[in-house]
Amino acid sequence: MEQLERPLPAPLAPEAKPYWEGLKQNKLMLPKCNDCGKAHFYPRILCPHCHSRKLTWVEASGRGKLFAFEILHRSFNPAVKTPLPYVLAMIELEEGPRMLSNLINIKPDPALIRCDMPVQVIYSKLNDNFTLPFFQPAEAK
Ligand SMILES: [Zn+2]
Repeated sequence: MEQLERPLPAPLAPEAKPYWEGLKQNKLMLPKCNDCGKAHFYPRILCPHCHSRKLTWVEASGRGKLFAFEILHRSFNPAVKTPLPYVLAMIELEEGPRMLSNLINIKPDPALIRCDMPVQVIYSKLNDNFTLPFFQPAEAK
């Protein structure tokens, strides 16, 4: 059996399939409502803003900002083998939705990490079926 650093979802919810398929191609896909125009995350069969079922998938820019974070020095779940300490991050995407991820490629030091800092997605392929979106500090322009 393959050894992964974290447990993966199984079985996948059918409404989330375009999300996981997009990640395999290094694309962050979000469901967007045709009626109210708002994107949301996590994937659902109804728009959480207006309850419309008219959803389409759009590719997110991959840019956002750090909304909140926590530096973990102990694993909350023994199945997660990510080396400690690491940064659990709530990312607010440019399109609006927030998603829970990890902030990587920065020292897990509260003096360096700031809420509202610009971040960008980086894809981590775990195996042929799963790629996860992590975030790193956005490159200066
Ligand atoms: Zn809507």
